[in-house]
Amino acid sequence: MEKRYFQKEIETMPVDQIKQMQSEKLVKQVKHVYENVPYYRNLMDEKGVKPEDIHGIEDLHKLPFLTKADLRDAYPYGLLAKPLEDCVRIQSTSGTTGRRVVAFYTQKDVDLWEDCCARAIVAAGGSNKDVCQVAYGYGLFTGGPGLNGGSHKVGCLTLPMSSGFTERQIQFMTDLSATILCCTPSYAAYIGESLKEQGYKPEDIPLKAGIFGAEPWTEEMRQQIQDTLGIKAYDIYGLTETTGPGVSFECEEQTGMHINEDHFLAEIIDPDTGEVLPEGSKGELVFTSLDKEAFPLLRYRTRDICVLTRKECSCGRTFIKMAKPMGRTDDMLIIRGVNVFPSQIETVLLKEGYQPNYQIIVDRKGNNDTFDVNVEMNPEQFTDTVSGVTQQEKALSNAMKVMLGINPAVHLVPPKSITRSEGKAVRVIDKRKLV
Ligand code: ADP
Ligand code: ZN
Repeated sequence: MEKRYFQKEIETMPVDQIKQMQSEKLVKQVKHVYENVPYYRNLMDEKGVKPEDIHGIEDLHKLPFLTKADLRDAYPYGLLAKPLEDCVRIQSTSGTTGRRVVAFYTQKDVDLWEDCCARAIVAAGGSNKDVCQVAYGYGLFTGGPGLNGGSHKVGCLTLPMSSGFTERQIQFMTDLSATILCCTPSYAAYIGESLKEQGYKPEDIPLKAGIFGAEPWTEEMRQQIQDTLGIKAYDIYGLTETTGPGVSFECEEQTGMHINEDHFLAEIIDPDTGEVLPEGSKGELVFTSLDKEAFPLLRYRTRDICVLTRKECSCGRTFIKMAKPMGRTDDMLIIRGVNVFPSQIETVLLKEGYQPNYQIIVDRKGNNDTFDVNVEMNPEQFTDTVSGVTQQEKALSNAMKVMLGINPAVHLVPPKSITRSEGKAVRVIDKRKLV
């Protein structure tokens, strides 16, 4: 098959040229930020770094980090690097971790963001012959507007559905033969489940590909979505602070997401010490926006934990790849002293033949953490005897112990009793924070 790219020259640029380009852009960007963002200028002054000290990407480590706390401190305009008259858009984080951040865009910023999303759509096989159903939320959340813009750039016939109204999603998908679905993986799973219930077989569903992101999901969940919808499911990553979805995207190899390195410079650091780690190490992902005009964050700590690797890719793209983020540093639960990521629990559930419909409830009784996992039964288990169910709960709890090192109390609950998500799924209820 002929390889397709949205911006071939950039996407397949030799690595030394990418690095050269990044160096040139970084020097300019640091100057732009220093001159226009007093908040960051102060951070640089405190560290004793001047724009003249930055000659290229080899000097990146000299710059101070920015954190979500800085974004909150500087809310709303403190990190703005352009006059408001030059800005055309505001987007905001979904507030998954309870703290909303607003980001500003010039028209050029919107354009480069949409280009990134267009690259993702083309990498998933999209062209002007496709009907692209965008079922990410529209509005302040970046998912809908980002993929919508990318879909237009590719020339797809765009269905701006937004999230929710699943019946209508299914009606439009089937009546208008949508070929590409863009939404969160948890919503894709829900749409798949609803289609199945209505008697659709994978081969009756017109979709060929899905572009799913905005929340962590496992390989097992990918497999399940691919099987139910009869598609190839591509991961896409991004965050409001850097633009939105499209910071990185998967190609047909499905072995990690190529980072759009012409716009975003990535590093992995040790989250505890801030030390830059060598390629291939697991750590916190840090991004520097090389082209953003209005809201150009330098060394922004994402709190997402992952690994970067640069290997030759069969798709021909030369951009470095990031692994699926396992979760965020602030997603990680510490239960009885043990680190637990929700994604580990999901992996166990799918391996054991359950659906990714679960909720983790952590509480504290006296000085002890309680750790409960509610898991939906499969419909056929619903008719099982009480003792059978207890046995299955035990087996699941033991499988989780192998993965996590501690035993949760597993409760099998009736099918469909855990609320489905149309956006980002809520997997954890940590009641310990409330006391
Ligand atoms: P919020 O921080 O409120 O969720 P955003 O909507 O900007 O705001 O979400 C960005 C975050 O979503 C990322 O930092 C990351 O934790 C998560 N995320 C986005 N895409 C993916 C993905 N493909 N895999 C895992 N996590 C993702
Ligand atoms: Zn590739």
